[in-house]
Amino acid sequence: MTEFKSSSDNVKETSSKNSFQRPDGRSVTEMRPVKAKVGVIPCADGSAMFQSGKTIAIAAVYGPKKMHPQHQQNPRKGQLRCEYNMISFSVDDRIRPGRNRRAMEISEITKWALEPVVMLEDYPNQVVDVHVNIIQADAGTRCAGINAAAMALAHAGIPMKDMVSSVSIGKLDKTLVVDLTKEEEDFEEGEGPTDIPISMTTSGKVTHMQLDGKIGVKQLQESVDMANVACKEIYEIQKEALKKAVEDIK
Ligand code: UDP
Repeated sequence: MTEFKSSSDNVKETSSKNSFQRPDGRSVTEMRPVKAKVGVIPCADGSAMFQSGKTIAIAAVYGPKKMHPQHQQNPRKGQLRCEYNMISFSVDDRIRPGRNRRAMEISEITKWALEPVVMLEDYPNQVVDVHVNIIQADAGTRCAGINAAAMALAHAGIPMKDMVSSVSIGKLDKTLVVDLTKEEEDFEEGEGPTDIPISMTTSGKVTHMQLDGKIGVKQLQESVDMANVACKEIYEIQKEALKKAVEDIK
């Protein structure tokens, strides 16, 4: 298993950030410890685990295969079908099993985040199924799911133009921080919390961005810059995990 400790402390920090105390003692630009592993579901065509702190996502990819139901087939290109699910035991309060509005929304944004890099034009009338399960949740589950799914797609040998990495940037009162925990998402002081999950390619193209809360244009730009640095670090760990899976086959 490839383990990674963020080394982004050297990122230029604005003056207000330096004095901000995070509950777990991390610097504002520091991610939680990250672990990644490829090939965790032997039956799947591709699979991966991505862990950030206490948040753990497992992704399994099946396909490409003929699209069923048949009326959903597209003769021009293949389709990515993503399903996000939080397992009942992933948090203290048992989650009711089955589809809910949040899971439907995150399934859709997972697809949006990944679709721009997957070469679906190679697979007319076919579908690639991506299943994301969150087995432990402490915020940032959609980002962990996207990171795991991107690795699982690559592991399945699906042609991709680029890799996708994802991280949540938060604004706690006035301060921007990287990779929010649930405790930080529940921050209540001053302007309260703003959550900005961002996914991007290695070349820095944003494939997904959401915003829950309030933020000005300048800080929003700064959030994208912080996500860019964090995503580059996440990409390195995704790449190492994929390389390790290939070496294990040899
Ligand atoms: N959460 C929960 N129960 C739910 C949904 C979410 O306890 O039914 C927690 C869980 O820790 C999750 C966090 O709230 O990671 C934040 O959820 P959000 O919808 O903001 O998405 P995420 O940050 O996980 O992508």
